[in-house]
Amino acid sequence: MDCLFCKIIKKELPAEIVYEDETILAFKDIHPKAPFHILIVPKKHIDSIKSNGAERVVGGLVSVAKEIAQKRKIEGYKLVFNVGKEGGQVVNHLHLHLLVGKPVEMP
Ligand SMILES: [Zn+2]
Repeated sequence: MDCLFCKIIKKELPAEIVYEDETILAFKDIHPKAPFHILIVPKKHIDSIKSNGAERVVGGLVSVAKEIAQKRKIEGYKLVFNVGKEGGQVVNHLHLHLLVGKPVEMP
């Protein structure tokens, strides 16, 4: 399957990774919509929130978003799931957007 995020997860494509554990990867969006824009994805391919069982991985994605924000002392941010093409989902691999309205120091 030709999935952009699966290729990033397998390190076949480069990305600025900000977090990684056994099941989740977080990296900078290459087309940022905010001064700090991170995508948080499950390593196992799931199409979208609409997929069966997607709700079971969402808590983990939110936990990683909180950890990234706390480590960088980000006070306020947006967490967004675009669901389906009609909902603005561009890549067909479940991802959580972490958006911050001002630049963030990257360690
Ligand atoms: Zn994928």
